[in-house]
Amino acid sequence: MAVSAATRPKPFLEAEFCKGCLRCIDACPKDCISQGDQINAGTGYVPVELDLENCNGCALCIQACPEPFGLRPETDHADHVHAAEFELEDPKTLFGERSSSAPTPVARPGSEIALPATEPLVLKGTYASALGALLAGCRHVFGYPITPSTEGAELMAKVLPKLDGAFVQAVSEVAVVNMMYGCSGAGLPCITFTSSPGFSLMLEGISYMIGAELPGVFVNVMRGGPGLGNIAPEQSDIKLACRGLGHGNTHAITLAPATPQEMLDLTRLAFSLSFKYRNPVVILGDGYLGQMTGVVRLPKTMTKPGLPAWAVWGDREHRSNLICSILLVETELEAHNIHLNDKYAEMAATEQRSDRYRCEDAEVLLVACNTPAGMAKGAVEDLRNQGVKAGLFRPITLWPFPITSLAPLLSTVKRIVVVEASPGQLEDELRLALSHAGIAPPPISSVRRFGGVLPQQSEIVAGVLKGGAQ
Ligand code: SF4
Ligand code: SF4
Repeated sequence: MAVSAATRPKPFLEAEFCKGCLRCIDACPKDCISQGDQINAGTGYVPVELDLENCNGCALCIQACPEPFGLRPETDHADHVHAAEFELEDPKTLFGERSSSAPTPVARPGSEIALPATEPLVLKGTYASALGALLAGCRHVFGYPITPSTEGAELMAKVLPKLDGAFVQAVSEVAVVNMMYGCSGAGLPCITFTSSPGFSLMLEGISYMIGAELPGVFVNVMRGGPGLGNIAPEQSDIKLACRGLGHGNTHAITLAPATPQEMLDLTRLAFSLSFKYRNPVVILGDGYLGQMTGVVRLPKTMTKPGLPAWAVWGDREHRSNLICSILLVETELEAHNIHLNDKYAEMAATEQRSDRYRCEDAEVLLVACNTPAGMAKGAVEDLRNQGVKAGLFRPITLWPFPITSLAPLLSTVKRIVVVEASPGQLEDELRLALSHAGIAPPPISSVRRFGGVLPQQSEIVAGVLKGGAQ
């Protein structure tokens, strides 16, 4: 049965719910609605005005109105409760008096779960790192694709939904790092995979995470720079990771794996260190290592993470926790920086890691990390076969540089040759560490390639034999 215009409900409008978009004016065939000229004091918008004398109740204006509580049929009016009529319930009447002593949050410990023995896998470095994160109990991954790191995120996107986890592809690297800020603020392990230009974009957020004392693992599969550069391997971000993590007084433990096995092992370690110190940890791989396949043995256990006492978890116990790096009072910010620097000093004293190959009697000490360390290791064998007492010192932590294990080797070393895929970023870290330790080093020379070119074993041998300078 047709409904006559006389019986169709006309619209009504509560001015507080009108945003002044004017769509209803265009929609009305009877020109019943006009632009208002009064600013609503409560909203700051200018609501439309209704003159419904000619209104036929067609409801076109109601359909056009995008506001859920905007134009509505007058039949709703009886049920409508004006916003001002809402009264917030006093929580006391609902829940009783609030306890004067909120419980102190207590850390909920994690646990290690035994894994069945399995055959070794053959994995590329990015996959091995992703697997390491899963075994560390990470179920939250944020990413923005960038070659040559993308496979790590890609694998996570496939498996996390099956593991009750979440992979979020953000709109940019800036969004990624801020999602990590939020996730780790809740006390949850999280990771991202990126490559050099993407890592540059994350630096401000990493600085915020360091300031707010939040964990998080950043896998940077380094590629040739500067700028977009290319997608071939380079050790282009040693300086960024060790010296330039955003503004302010920042440091993060920086790990440099050399094999797919270490991509897994050091990713697991990174989570542990990250939560131990409440600080991001950076894993610097290179483009070759990210794509290179190798034998990977799984550990005997995997981690079920606990919940730190500081987590903003959203329950009563954690309600008083606050994650923030804003300290506007100068003396408070200075005190916070003193606290952070004490933490860096503890990391520097206790987290140095290195690998030493045939260093016991070495007179020529090669220093290399990541993929170039593999070439340098081969060069050590070649040089030994030619009667040169060569050894390889491989820093696994680039920050802190493992000066404590390097220093004792220098009693027999007559010269150091730094082998790297960068124009001197590793050598700078070495020289800085020696200087801070007050060690007068033997002559230092280098074998360097960059721009996506790796130093080859033969040119390392040739460089050492002719004196190492290049
Ligand atoms: S119901 Fe129809 S006629 Fe009445 S104001 Fe809305 S659009 Fe105009
Ligand atoms: S469509 Fe709704 S929100 Fe927009 S001016 Fe009209 S009543 Fe206001």
